[in-house]
Formats: sequence, structure tokens, C-alpha cells
Amino acid sequence: MIKRVTGTQDFLDITLLNFIIEQTKKYLKLHHFSEIIVPILEPTELFKRSLGVETDVVKKEMYLISGDENICLRPEATASTARAFVENGIQTTPWKVFTWGPMFRHERPQKGRYRQFHQVSIEVIGTNAIAQDAEVIALLDGLFSKMLAFDSYALLINFLGCHEDREAFKVELRKFLETHINEICDQCKVRKDTNIMRVFDCKNEKDKELYATQAPKIIQHLCSVCSTEWQELQELLELLSISFHVQPTLVRGLDYYQKTVFEFVSGNLGAQNAFCGGGRYHQLVKIVGAREDQPSVGAAIGVERLLLMLEAIKDRLPLPQPPAIQAIIPVEPAQKPIAMLVAQELIKHGIAAQTMIESDSLKSMMRQANRIGAQHAIIIGPEELAKKEARVKNMTTGEEQSLKQTELVQFLMK
Ligand code: AMP
Repeated sequence: MIKRVTGTQDFLDITLLNFIIEQTKKYLKLHHFSEIIVPILEPTELFKRSLGVETDVVKKEMYLISGDENICLRPEATASTARAFVENGIQTTPWKVFTWGPMFRHERPQKGRYRQFHQVSIEVIGTNAIAQDAEVIALLDGLFSKMLAFDSYALLINFLGCHEDREAFKVELRKFLETHINEICDQCKVRKDTNIMRVFDCKNEKDKELYATQAPKIIQHLCSVCSTEWQELQELLELLSISFHVQPTLVRGLDYYQKTVFEFVSGNLGAQNAFCGGGRYHQLVKIVGAREDQPSVGAAIGVERLLLMLEAIKDRLPLPQPPAIQAIIPVEPAQKPIAMLVAQELIKHGIAAQTMIESDSLKSMMRQANRIGAQHAIIIGPEELAKKEARVKNMTTGEEQSLKQTELVQFLMK
């Protein structure tokens, strides 16, 4: 047997997935976001430059195309959206767009973590207003609580300041780490010299405790402009009745973030507890080739994690019901062509129908009709064929009646 690639999934029932995507699209369009599609194949350089060569995603998790390592399967869509903004010469800002689709990262698979997974990626490119960050966060909160009916999740936020704030903070942090060098793990010792902010993503309990309780906090090292913006963001969220927790160790894995960063987490997800993450980025558009920076804010929602959360509450959701199906049964092979014509006629009128053509015993065709959950069995034998009629059996009540074939559409539409 040929098995699927490790870390990928077959979705055999996509009712919930479609529900998530439809609800999300509807809600984003209400907020005046337009849907775009960007390629799954992108130049490897795009992610090296934007996410940063020292990030886990670029260093260890990229799927490079064999034979042409300059092309890769995208690991995320923010950099692609920034590239599309520049390459298509978009002039009108803020550019409010979203896209959804598969992303690829060579990670160690576990519950909620896959090598091919799906994200909805939302971006507002060309906006300096910190109020826009509050609006994006409020939009996401509304999507999760109202459109998807989640009730047990939390919003974590932090403020990373501007480039200068972060550079000054890194000096402070390095001093702290050097003072505690014997208490931190080997990986953090390496990160101290390569990508220092990532020490805050350490999974080691001892290190986490040290950073949470004793490490300097970036929100205490903000310049006056950033400090005012951080205050404004918190006030706006309070005004919009969005509950949040400030988490000073939240830095997010990718290099391009600055100022606002946030994550939505749920206790129902296990170790991979974040189902949405985002923040503000200013240099990305320039990094991918524009002459000027575009201040921007965005977020990515992990669809598989939403699915895990929705699975538990799906009985409460207004999921669309599949249309009632009619089973057309030719009693003998000679009635198969007319049965197929009847099915075609019903489908033409928007009535779902399936002809039972696999078997030639009436009993087994009736069983099959039952198995597919047919509303009616529409039986055509030699007598019915001669009289241009059909026997219609209601599969719930067992009631049977004969109808002219020309009356079927009207009867089933009732
Ligand atoms: P990121 O692009 O890393 O900021 O991730 C944004 C969101 O995508 C996370 O909060 C997760 O919900 C989801 N995500 C990231 N990586 C994976 C993965 N390997 N498998 C499933 N979901 C993921």
C-alpha cells in the first residue's frame, strides 16, 4: 500500500472545514477585506529575506523543490502577500486582503501540527494607525466568538516596540542572559548569539520560569512614541470589550514583527495551543523589493486547530444539511436507460438523484437506497416503463404511490 506523506491528512468529510472557510469569508467581507490567491510555489529567497535566515522555518523546515532549490513550497502567506502588493504595483492603501490555502513546514508532526496544513492569512498593508491593530484583533475575536461559537480561548498580546527599541532591549537581554548563563539551556546559549529574542520561545520549564519572572520586559523599554501606542492599543481593546492578557515573553517566531504581536490560544488544543497569531510588520514590503516601507498588520489562523476546536462543539453549529437524495431504481436491466433519463431530469431541476446501476436485484437496490439515506425510492419496472409511470416509495413512512414520470419533478419539489 502506498501511504500518504507523514504529516499530511486526507479530509474525507469537509463539512466543518467548509463551514469555517465560509463563515470566515463572510465575516472578512463584512469588514471590507477582498480575497486574493497567491501561488503555493514561491522563490526560496522570499522567505529567507522576510522571515529571517535564523528562524526555525527557514533554517530547518522549508520544502525546497528538488532540481531547483530556488523555488520552495510556501511555509506561510504574509511574505507572498507583500510580494504580490509590490509586484502588482498596488497604489491604494490600506490594502485589506485575505487568502487561504495549504502551507508547508517540515516540522515534527504531533496533535495539531502537520507538515501540510492550512491557514487563513489576513493582511492590512499600508497603515500606520495602531487602531488598525485593535480592529484586526477585534475582528478575529468576533470571528471566533460569534461566527464560530468558541467560548474557551484567550488572547495574549505583547508590544515589541520599534527597531531602535528592540536593538536597545537586545543589549539589556544579553546582559541578563550572560549573568544567568549557567541557568539557561544549551539552545538558549546558542540563541543568545544568533537570534536572541527567540530565547523567549524556549520550551524548557526552568528557562521559561526564569524569563517570566526575572528577565527584562520589552514593554518597560519602549520609546515615548511606542509607549503611547501601546497604551492606545490597550485602551482601544478595553473599549471594544476584548479581554486580553499581556504576555511579556510573547515574541512570535518570525523576524518581521515589530510593535504589536498577539496570539489566540485555547486550553483544548494540548501542547500546540495557539490557533491564530499575528502582529505588525513594517519592513517586509521594502525587504521584498519596494522602494518604501509600508507599515502593515496581519494575522494567520491555523485551520486544522480550528477544526480540532469545532469538532467538540459541532452539534451546536448551524452546519448545512446535505440535500435530500432520490434513488432511482430500474427493476430490470431493460429499464436502466429510462431510470438514467429520469435521474437526469430531476437533477436538471435541482433535485439530487442517484440511479442504482450497480446491481440487478430489486432487494439489493432497495438496501442500497437505504444506505445512501434516500428520501424516496423511485422504482421503474416493465409495467411502469410501458405506462410511462414510476412507483414512488417514501423511505421513512413506507408509503407507496404510482405517478406519471412527468409528474415526478412537481411531486418532489413540494
Ligand atoms: P505562524 O505562521 O507560525 O505564525 O502560525 C500561525 C498559526 O498557524 C498558528 O497559530 C497555528 O494555528 C497554525 N500553524 C502553524 N504551524 C502549523 C503546523 N505545522 N500545523 C498546523 N498548524 C500550524
